[in-house]
Amino acid sequence: MIFFVCVLLLGFFAEAVANVPVFKIADTWMVNIDSLSKAEGLSTSWQPVERHFKAEGQKLSCSFVLGFPYIFANGNAVKLSVPTSFENDIVWTPVKETVEIFEKAFAKKYVLDTNAQILRENVPAAAEKISSSEASSSSSAQIQVSSSSAAKASTEKPIVRKNAPAGSREVKNIVIDPGHGGKDPGAIGLISNEKDIVLAVSKLLEKELVAMGFNVNLTRSTDKFIQLSERPQIANKWNGDLFISLHCNAIDGNKDRKSKTKGFRIYVLRDPESEEDRAIARHENKVAKTYGDKNSKEELSPLDWLKIQARLEQYKQASYTFTEKAIKAYEGGKISKMGSGAGGAGFMVLVGAFMPATLIELGFISNPEEERYMSSEKGQKEMAKRIAQGVLQYKEALNEYLKTLSH
Ligand SMILES: [Zn+2]
Repeated sequence: MIFFVCVLLLGFFAEAVANVPVFKIADTWMVNIDSLSKAEGLSTSWQPVERHFKAEGQKLSCSFVLGFPYIFANGNAVKLSVPTSFENDIVWTPVKETVEIFEKAFAKKYVLDTNAQILRENVPAAAEKISSSEASSSSSAQIQVSSSSAAKASTEKPIVRKNAPAGSREVKNIVIDPGHGGKDPGAIGLISNEKDIVLAVSKLLEKELVAMGFNVNLTRSTDKFIQLSERPQIANKWNGDLFISLHCNAIDGNKDRKSKTKGFRIYVLRDPESEEDRAIARHENKVAKTYGDKNSKEELSPLDWLKIQARLEQYKQASYTFTEKAIKAYEGGKISKMGSGAGGAGFMVLVGAFMPATLIELGFISNPEEERYMSSEKGQKEMAKRIAQGVLQYKEALNEYLKTLSH
């Protein structure tokens, strides 16, 4: 009954914070911090590449980096019970500590309604009654938990969590990212441009994968320019299960050096172990600098690596599994492996993808033989078929793994 009164009272307090979405991740209730901040009149900003959230106003200024268990609030670091997270295109923070921060700053109380999946302000009259009737039974005194049916009267649509995160669910949606495009030709060969080769292979790969039953999206299907930092964002919007960025490698130097340097290599986002890999990433990242992408840089700093560490850990195993399968499938073709075939470096295009992600350097456009092959229809078809086989084998490997989990 108390809750019913509470709901009715809300109508009289026009300024009251109502219907901020909450969402249960594992066993913890999380709140949409952007929505809560805006409801309290704070201005918010979200930097997708740096994974940095900020909310500012007169009474409260808070910020945090996604994936870490801290929120900086009015100059203090508040330790969180679980790290901040990103689901369904929304930044979530644990209700418990977030509410403590906001209650302190705004001198008010909030109610968590688990049935309606909302957090709302507890209006003073109702708050008194609830706290006097529940004070003894509530151990985490700060927030009141309501699960009455009356509270369901909320018109806010509850957030329904999509299935498990990419990398631990069935592989369905593949995002193919043909590198470069439009004003950015990528590496230039004697008879072709990188942007045209990778687009042609991407379209053929799409065909192969669709025939295998996958859903496929391309970040570009025409000769258009897209900034590096936008590409993983597009993949996130499509809720991809796997992100594959296609490129051609190139090397400067004389004829002899160019004909000797060849091979394919498949990269995951990882702190580079060799100068060679570091240089290749710098080469691909140069696009951002050349075409004014403010969210990208040529090389990731140690702090950048630290910021994305949690997410890298989450998708590492699946990214490696795909890389391993793709190398096996690709290496029977005309282009052989460069070294082990696998590498790791700070590719900007992979930063920000919330899914297993790899970058494939199909071969060297600066090597005349490999260029001829990569720009031929036959070569492009073969490359696409082989990568598609890698995707299929990755899906099967992941299925096997998921089966062991469910037993
Ligand atoms: Zn490239």
